[in-house]
Amino acid sequence: FGRLKAGLSRSSAKITESFAGIFTRRKLDQALIDELEEALIAADLGPATAARLTAVLARDRFDKEVSVEEVRGIFAGEIARMLEPVAKPLAIGPARPHVVLVVGVNGSGKTTTIGKLARLYQAQGKKVMLAAGDTFRAAAVEQLKIWGERANVPVIARGEGADPAGLAFDAVQAAKEQGIDLLLIDTAGRLQNKAGLMEELAKILRVIRKIDATAPNDCLLVLDATVGQNAHSQVEIFKQVCDVSGLVLTKLDGSAKGGVLVALAERFKLPVVAIGVGEGPDDLKPFTPQEFARSLMD
Ligand code: GDP
Repeated sequence: FGRLKAGLSRSSAKITESFAGIFTRRKLDQALIDELEEALIAADLGPATAARLTAVLARDRFDKEVSVEEVRGIFAGEIARMLEPVAKPLAIGPARPHVVLVVGVNGSGKTTTIGKLARLYQAQGKKVMLAAGDTFRAAAVEQLKIWGERANVPVIARGEGADPAGLAFDAVQAAKEQGIDLLLIDTAGRLQNKAGLMEELAKILRVIRKIDATAPNDCLLVLDATVGQNAHSQVEIFKQVCDVSGLVLTKLDGSAKGGVLVALAERFKLPVVAIGVGEGPDDLKPFTPQEFARSLMD
């Protein structure tokens, strides 16, 4: 978790720095509560979470002297409590294959996350297959093939411009025939053509449901944590097309504002299945609320 800590401490340096700018020790009055609330909102935690955190603080400490360390500790504890219900790793159910559609805007880290997941489950003895459904970009297909080779798992791919729904259909069929446990389907994420993107995803869903009415078993939305507040609209957009069953927040190693994860959890209550903390094959970590909350407030 060194990287998560390093990344978050850069962004949460913002939270702690802004707290430090406000006070070191002061009586907790309404003015201080307002300032803390503003600092939390500025760190992407969102107004609802900010209000909840300061309410918890006020309940115990109003009109009393508080230190900045004490406030950080109380906030971290409450954030961990809030995040506990959404920390859920991907659960591979009885369906064979367990089909996971991976969605998200371009550059959010879909292909990388699929590569990391492939490696993780392959190492656990699961039979994994990948489908290069982002047929719009040749580079995306090539990248997925490289991840497949690295994890030593088969990749179903076609040329650039191929129909992603047809490819997904073939992949589900092949996975069934080959007794695959986990099929991860990559998709395109061209948000500049939103209607086209929605249509493409809807078609993939329609087509794979011809083979298995319950597919996909999961629809994972990959979000780049550095986009801050934009993550909210991305969740809203993708929820319209598929039944998003989990989130992966990536780039929490960089200057990422991890605060948005807390706001998303409070608002959408979607499971956070894992977090990305780097570009390497082992840089996918289980999401652990305590650790995350502590790093955010450190
Ligand atoms: P896609 O377009 O959604 O498939 O995104 P990619 O998987 O191609 O990732 C876009 C860029 O982000 C690549 O340069 C990745 O190496 C990088 N990336 C993905 N996940 C992470 C992460 O957790 N941390 C960092 N630092 N970079 C990441």
